[in-house]
Amino acid sequence: MERLKGKNVLVTGASSGIGQAIAIRFAKEGASVAVNYFRGKDGADATVAGMPAGQGFTVQADVSDESQVKAMFADVTAKLGGLDVLVNNAGIQKPCPSHEVEMMDFDRILGVNLRGPFLCAREAIRVFLKQGKGGVVLNNSSVHEVIPKPKYVSYSITKGGMENMTRSLALEYADRGIRVNAVGPGAIVTPINLAWINNDKARGEVESHIPMGRAGGSDEIASVFAFLASDEASYITGQTIFACGGLTLFPEFRVAWASGE
Ligand code: NAD
Repeated sequence: MERLKGKNVLVTGASSGIGQAIAIRFAKEGASVAVNYFRGKDGADATVAGMPAGQGFTVQADVSDESQVKAMFADVTAKLGGLDVLVNNAGIQKPCPSHEVEMMDFDRILGVNLRGPFLCAREAIRVFLKQGKGGVVLNNSSVHEVIPKPKYVSYSITKGGMENMTRSLALEYADRGIRVNAVGPGAIVTPINLAWINNDKARGEVESHIPMGRAGGSDEIASVFAFLASDEASYITGQTIFACGGLTLFPEFRVAWASGE
């Protein structure tokens, strides 16, 4: 399938995990892809190596830094000759009881997960308006857009904010052909989840809460992004599609525990 043939794309945080899978999937669907990374040039090079030859290149930037984001967009649009799709994927988290959170960590998580996606969306929308042919912004959110995440309050706040950003930008630019959507992954096997993915006991505990009984793969998330980036999603804007094996379905209600049966 070449649903993204001719599309120019920037994927942030694409040196590992879901971002890497998205960048490779998009290139395989025909897109030219700028692979943003912060640290880990090796990972970004591996992303490009996983693409059909000549369809990707790397670009370094911290998405939370305005001057670096501006320089990245100048570089990317010059090399690609424009931009059609931005994927805001970069994200970080750090567990900590909420009453012990250091404001430096709070600010960093909001900086990467919320300020960064807004900065990149702002730059992308400026390019889209100048080009005058619409465009697509996609945000990698989380089930924690709607499910509270104790001990990860900074992360949870950013994903809740991301929902509002997705909907607000979608409404503001709908009449200019710019679509803004999000994907909300559940528990996915990537480096952000090193705490449990290689530990059978911990992984079993995580998977016992997932109605489909298993964690997801990065490719299962990348395919949703590919659909939303493509013209097949031409009438969808302001939405979050949850790809989570049923995690958002209030799994505890599988058993009718309060109906008197
Ligand atoms: P990951 O750690 O492999 O990916 C995060 C990427 O962001 C890394 O490549 C990292 O280098 C990059 N990054 C960090 N700070 C950056 C910065 N300042 N500038 C640019 N890039 C930066 O983990 P992942 O699971 O692939 O996470 C990708 C996205 O998916 C995140 O936004 C995360 O919140 C979201 N997500 C993941 C899961 C999951 O279970 N894995 C679930 C829901 C949402």
